[in-house]
Parts: sequence; C-alpha cells; structure tokens
Amino acid sequence: MTKLEEMLEHGGSVVILGHVNPDGDCAGSCLAMYNYAKKKNPGTYVRLYLQPVPGKFSYLKGYDEIQSEMQEENPFDLCICLDCSDRERLGQFGEYFDKAGQSICIDHHITNQGYAQANVIDAQASSSCEVLYGQLRPDMIDKDIAACLYTGMVHDTGVFRYSCTSARTMEIAGRLMAMGIDFTKIIDDTFFRKTYLQSQILGRALMESIRFMDGRCIFTVIKKQDMAFYGVDNKDLDGIVDQLRTIEGVECAIFMYETDPHIYKVSMRSNDLVNVSKIAAYFGGGGHVRAAGCTMSGSVHDVVNNLSEHIEKQLSLEDANV
Ligand code: AMP
Ligand code: MN
Ligand code: MN
Repeated sequence: MTKLEEMLEHGGSVVILGHVNPDGDCAGSCLAMYNYAKKKNPGTYVRLYLQPVPGKFSYLKGYDEIQSEMQEENPFDLCICLDCSDRERLGQFGEYFDKAGQSICIDHHITNQGYAQANVIDAQASSSCEVLYGQLRPDMIDKDIAACLYTGMVHDTGVFRYSCTSARTMEIAGRLMAMGIDFTKIIDDTFFRKTYLQSQILGRALMESIRFMDGRCIFTVIKKQDMAFYGVDNKDLDGIVDQLRTIEGVECAIFMYETDPHIYKVSMRSNDLVNVSKIAAYFGGGGHVRAAGCTMSGSVHDVVNNLSEHIEKQLSLEDANV
C-alpha cells in the first residue's frame, strides 16, 4: 500500500491544495486526486481549493467544484498538496495546510525540501501527475481520472518533448490513453490553442526579444501597460518562454512580466547546459533543472544583469569542461 493510500484509509475530511496560479499539472493532479478521494471514500468530506483555474480545463471532471474563496472554519483531517514546491506557494490556502491533522505532499520539484508530514517527491518525474499515478491503485483509475492525469503530463512535458519525459512517462501516458480519453482534443484545446489576443502578445514578445552572450541567451519582457493594451492577463502569457527557448543557438531563455511597478515574475528555460533551478532558487524561487521561475525586483536592466551573471558563470564552467 502506498503512503497516500494508507493516509486515505483513515477516512476523515480531506482538503486538496496546489500552487498559486495553477497550471495544467497543478489542475490535473489536484482534480485527479479530488475525483479519486471521492471515489475511494464515498460520502467523505473532500474539498479542493485553488486560485482560479483557466477555463480551458473546464472539461476535467470536478472543475465546477473547485473552491477559490476560503469558506472552511473547521480543520481538515488530511491535507494533500500537489505540484507545490514549498509552503509559501500554497498561497492563502496554506492556512488549511497548517491546521490539518495530517499532511502529505506529492511533487516533482527538485527544490522541494519536504514541508509536509509525509513527502513523496520524485525530481526525475515529468510531472506531479506522474508521481501521483504511482501512488494510486491502477484499478481505481477511471476515464475521468485518466483525463486529469494525462492533461498534467501533457502540460509539464510540452506534449512529451521536454527532457523530463522518460520511458515511464510514455508507459503511463499509454495506459491512460488506453482508457479511451480524447487525447487529441486535450492536446489541441489546452496546449496549442491560443486566442487571437494571446497570439498577438506572443508576437509582440518575440518581436521585442533581445539576444545576448553571443545569442546563447535571450530575454523579453511584457509590462503591465502592454497587457492592458492587448487586454490580456498573466494566464495569457503561457508558452512565450518556450518559443524563445527553441530559437536556434539559444541555450537559456528568460521571459519576464511585470506584476507590480518594478516587480517581475521571471520564467527561465534552458536546453542542455544551464541549471535554471539553481538560479531561480538563489533568487528565492524554484522549479526544475530546465524550467524554473522566481520573482525579482528592480529595473528590467537590473533583473537581466543579475540573472546573466549566474548564467554566464555556469556557461563558462561548462565551456572550460569541454
Ligand atoms: P514557470 O516559469 O512559471 O512556468 O515555472 C517553471 C517551473 O518553476 C514550474 O515548475 C514552477 O512550479 C516553478 N516555479 C516558478 N516560479 C516559482 C517560484 N517563485 N517558486 C518556486 N517554484 C517556481
Ligand atoms: Mn505547476
Ligand atoms: Mn508540475
């Protein structure tokens, strides 16, 4: 019996939490967990709290039952955290985590230090959905749960392209496909589909991107006024950093958007050499070796300068080793 199954066996109320600004893996793993917990212990009190989840994920079972406003007074018996690398990234719902009788964290972030009572962290796994799959009883995974898990895997692997994709990722994806999920629709509608405005801001971001370090690095920035001009918000900026990463000659890509005056949410991606999780962690963020993020303050110039110092250090060490 897995640690998660063991904790669910006790019965009692369950709260499921993910990270702030939920992405596909966060939404997918949390909804898979939500549906599974309700199926395993029918009649038990199960709640899923997340900040608003993009509407493109509304086909996932349980989407309409996601709570975004805190309503609970009584502590939960069990808190399950998914895809969240540290206590702070639970956002306002961290209060439920603090008060819960028991807690378990299921995650794949290399920067996760194990903040719950029980921690199932596999930094080699493609996604939290992949880690969660290993904690569930295969015979209890139905088509709805399979769609949730598959969605998360698709998003965190960039449709099975990123280096976090392994043979095991594909084996699990294959088993989920065998459940009859509409995988082409999931991929097209949630990963590739962009609104006209999302495409426009992507175009703007690419047009204004700047290469440095002989084209090995690239960055672009979207200011608050740009988002207002195009009528988009931060959820419309997904995928920009990945477009930068695939430009020929680029090793490390930086995308940043302004959240408040002189405050930027930074996303970094690398191809082969730079450990971006190390850099993000240095600046108080986290993530994975090839995909990480943090929040930084100062002018755009300051932020890029501070990051490039670390990138340059790593690249020159790599160059010295060749
Ligand atoms: P993003 O660039 O926001 O798509 O994030 C890339 C990866 O880094 C994701 O796995 C995030 O969960 C993680 N990440 C992003 N920002 C932070 C942060 N401030 N703290 C910890 N992890 C982060
Ligand atoms: Mn995530
Ligand atoms: Mn993830």
